Amino acid sequence: MIKEKKKEIFTFKSEVKQLLHLMIHSLYSNEEVFLRELISNASDAIDKLRFYYISNCNSRKNIEEFKIKISVDKNKKELIISDNGIGMTKKEVIENLGTIAESGTKKFLSSISQNKRNEKLIGQFGVGFYSSFIVSNFVSVHTRSINSLQNESVLWESDGCGEYKVSTLYKEDIGTTVTLSMKEEKTKFLELWKLKEIISKYSNYISFPIEVKSFNEKDKEPYWEKINKSKAIWRKNKNDITETEYKEFYKYISNSTLEPLSWIHNIVEGSQEYTFLIYIPKKSSIELWNKNKICGIKIYVRRVFIMEKREKFVPNYLRFIVGIVDIESVSLNISREVLQNDNSLKNIRFILTKKILKKLENIGKNEKKTYQKFWNEFGLIFKEGPAEDRKNINTIMKLLRFSSTYRSSSIQDVSLEDYVSRMKKNQKKIYYITSDNYVSAKNSPHLEIFKKEKIEVLLLFDKIDDWMMNYLTEFHGKNFQLISKSDFSVEELTGNYKEKESIKLQEEQLKYLLIEIKKYLGERVKNVKFTNRLTKTPVVLTTDSNEMSTQMAKIFSSIGKNTPEIKYNFEINPKSKIIQKISLIKDKAFLSKWIELLLEEAFLVEKGSLEDPGKFVQKINDLLIELSSK
Ligand code: ADP
Repeated sequence: MIKEKKKEIFTFKSEVKQLLHLMIHSLYSNEEVFLRELISNASDAIDKLRFYYISNCNSRKNIEEFKIKISVDKNKKELIISDNGIGMTKKEVIENLGTIAESGTKKFLSSISQNKRNEKLIGQFGVGFYSSFIVSNFVSVHTRSINSLQNESVLWESDGCGEYKVSTLYKEDIGTTVTLSMKEEKTKFLELWKLKEIISKYSNYISFPIEVKSFNEKDKEPYWEKINKSKAIWRKNKNDITETEYKEFYKYISNSTLEPLSWIHNIVEGSQEYTFLIYIPKKSSIELWNKNKICGIKIYVRRVFIMEKREKFVPNYLRFIVGIVDIESVSLNISREVLQNDNSLKNIRFILTKKILKKLENIGKNEKKTYQKFWNEFGLIFKEGPAEDRKNINTIMKLLRFSSTYRSSSIQDVSLEDYVSRMKKNQKKIYYITSDNYVSAKNSPHLEIFKKEKIEVLLLFDKIDDWMMNYLTEFHGKNFQLISKSDFSVEELTGNYKEKESIKLQEEQLKYLLIEIKKYLGERVKNVKFTNRLTKTPVVLTTDSNEMSTQMAKIFSSIGKNTPEIKYNFEINPKSKIIQKISLIKDKAFLSKWIELLLEEAFLVEKGSLEDPGKFVQKINDLLIELSSK
């Protein structure tokens, strides 16, 4: 029988009152965090006792004996959480449970009271012990400190309304028991399945066993059921973790049945201590395109799950990464502050990004097949990198893969390093073409001279490509050149003078045609000129370097943005049979029909579609009828 010695009544310090008021009168999106907070306190208390034993050269208890026990008394509507940790003396109880010592918490508190909308944050971050009052209307804490005299213990009781009572009692064991009398509408937290669910979600990796008092199906005999996994795999020594364990953990955190493609596990020590275990998945998921979904990286503070917030730790173009970051060097109490303070996370983000890129670089170099799998799955997302992460642009560029005329395949497996290593002796530029799809890219008339001269061209046909290329300026000192833009570097490179001479002659003969086309098209094109870039195709459209490219204009219009009309150069191939034939036409009306047709052909090739295909077909048919009757 516990004999009560003496009862004293205290009032809470004003900031505690403020906090309790918020707790009791606000709506919480995440009220279940109260259990996480109490379990974390229990775990901290056990940690402290272990440390006490170690530093006092007394290994009286081994880790198995330390436990956090949770039970329910449905009749009394009570939830009981007890630990055999360090406990508290009376002085500590008053200090810890009657005031808010941590100045960061005070700051946090004043910031939330100023901004009502932030109240939800409490639910997200938790505010320690006081969160008990979210779900209960009466809380008692019965605790005996390791430093207590004899069996003396302290009972703290409060309804959270301004006062608390402290009495001195006797307790057999060292440790703390917190009893919550649940509010009528919160009795769902007395259901064992609910408790187990919350424990697995937030406290699965607490280092000590968390046991829930359960009952046998058959005889309803009680037994203690361990709920948490106990050992956080990421805290183990790397050499002690098997590959299977790593893979199993991936499946657990990613809710996937697949194995990961690769992973990075690092324990970082120093002023900022943290561990991360992050994975590159094998398969992409549609969710990665849902900007509102926050997922991927779980944040733990000393094994306690805090929240899932990927963007704090990796940039968007690496949003496929999943894993955990466990921050050691902040206490759970101030974690909310740290997590709101971007600066302290920036460094972790910086390191994580570097490590992921380095890992990908290694895979790219040493495991080409694996890298290809990665690229096929995530290349499209990774292509957001050049725009998003200018700091790492050089590494990102090395990781990009393209389809190219070298392989004649739509598979994107050519790196810029591959391309540069195959460049012609005096080649100064990296050539590329953008289009809607692989087939139209590889059959583009712009490629004709490159094919003839055997100069490799990168074929880009993903929607994002044109936009991405805006952020790539040079690689290994070579500029990028879109080949549908006017540029003389190919002519300079190939320097085929003999051919140029013969073209000159042809051009001379075709001068009349050029003048006629110019006259006829007038303002509809920027310029009409001869080209020696084509071998078969009669005409092609190009843009000047200051003009927006066709693909870029398409991107803009697809997102509903107005674009200025592109002024094209209409380039004519003097070697083309059609051009030579129509240069002989004297009937201007008939010639104009040919010019119209050729212009539309060029538009069709350039844009992949026409504004009025019916009219185009009509023009062809009219011309065919006219030709057949000639
Ligand atoms: P904190 O975030 O610091 O845990 P809390 O309000 O949850 O904030 O708790 C305040 C303090 O009360 C703790 O720092 C700890 O010293 C003490 N405390 C809370 N629960 C326990 C417990 N189960 N055993 C021992 N001390 C505890």
